Amino acid sequence: MQDVVEKVYEQVVARNRGEAEFHQAVREVLESLDPVIAKHPHYADDALLERIVEPERQVIFRVPWVDDAGAVHVNRGFRVEFNSALGPYKGGLRFHPSVNVGIIKFLGFEQVFKNALTAQGIGGGKGGSDFDPHGRSDAEVMRFCQSFMTELSRHIGPSTDVPAGDIGVGGREIGYLFGQYKRLRNAYDAGVLTGKGLAWGGSLVRTEATGYGTVLFAQSMLATRGQTLEGKTVAVSGAGNVAIYAIEKAQKLGAKPITFSDSSGYVVDEAGVDLELLKQVKEVERGRVKDYVERRPGARLVTQGRVWDVPVDVALPCATQNELDGANAATLLKNGCAVVSEGANMPSTPEAVEAFQSAGILYAPGKASNAGGVATSALEMEQNAGRTRWDFATAEAKLDAIMTDIHDSCVAAAEEYGRPGDYVLGANAAGFTRVADVMIAHGIV
Ligand code: GLU
Repeated sequence: MQDVVEKVYEQVVARNRGEAEFHQAVREVLESLDPVIAKHPHYADDALLERIVEPERQVIFRVPWVDDAGAVHVNRGFRVEFNSALGPYKGGLRFHPSVNVGIIKFLGFEQVFKNALTAQGIGGGKGGSDFDPHGRSDAEVMRFCQSFMTELSRHIGPSTDVPAGDIGVGGREIGYLFGQYKRLRNAYDAGVLTGKGLAWGGSLVRTEATGYGTVLFAQSMLATRGQTLEGKTVAVSGAGNVAIYAIEKAQKLGAKPITFSDSSGYVVDEAGVDLELLKQVKEVERGRVKDYVERRPGARLVTQGRVWDVPVDVALPCATQNELDGANAATLLKNGCAVVSEGANMPSTPEAVEAFQSAGILYAPGKASNAGGVATSALEMEQNAGRTRWDFATAEAKLDAIMTDIHDSCVAAAEEYGRPGDYVLGANAAGFTRVADVMIAHGIV
């Protein structure tokens, strides 16, 4: 890295001790900025880089709640409002026991550039809690969400900060969160949260958008080499919302997804994933991947190694950060995998990214390829503001156009800065320059 950029990185490490994921996310972006700053040195003026790596506001709060047996629990809640240059802070809430301030900061930082790439006028933020919804009753999840929102409501609003879902936060949680917000504010501000139910301000296609977009991005990358997804085998990790709709879209485009996973292991279904059964197990029953295997002849559950051991043409990591390391990347490459499109946030470690890039395969970082989710959240906000509702085809056509535009922006930026086909550089440079130009226009704030 150039000296000026290296100095900023060292300051981030010194100021945010022990926040390994945040350091990793910052490093990846800063490394891409070398050619940008070499060409446009003004981006390093006025401490712009120092400002862009420092969240505008970070809130950490106590979330007390009572379980069904009457025992009191205390969780920690977070909202990191990272950057509002382009619009209200926008980004999901993650409920998972691994959540800490470093994880939320890494996600918020990624969100800033991802949201810029969507060109939908949204700033970046992220929040969540170390609360684990697994095994909790609906009533417990409701009481937790109400307590969480009681504090969060002080900080959010339709033109201030607009949370949505992420791992552990789906339609049920957004419902409880919205109900409490509405009660506290005595106002039906539909645009304060996205990922809402269709009967109360949600948008068609929001549920599908992240997974669909990830596959659309893979399709656009393949098109640059005159190829399509038709007939390709696909490894998907995860079994949540992103994974399910990545599988659905891949199937629609003629590919054959043969895997998915959760923390208990991964499933290989050589005949091709039975999507209806997977949806029944995960969305209706809130079950585990083993419940799928028990009902699906020919499918097997593997508890050793990783899903990346399965030979495939295309890999779609849709589980969580750092789920695909250098060794996994080497295995995928050895088995002939030629396309990686990330549905999760930062699922590939720096060593894995390096391996994909030096092998010259098509590799898309999540901040570009998974941006369809947040882009469709912005479409939901647009419908809420207009008190209107689009049909599925209208919303889907907009998502398709946004994903194509993100892909083409990445390609153009990679070319401009001398590394054609480098989607990491392309995404970071295109996202950064959009945010930085507006920060400069707004002055030192
Ligand atoms: N959590 C999703 C993401 O990582 C969606 C955020 C949103 O819709 O605001 O982009």
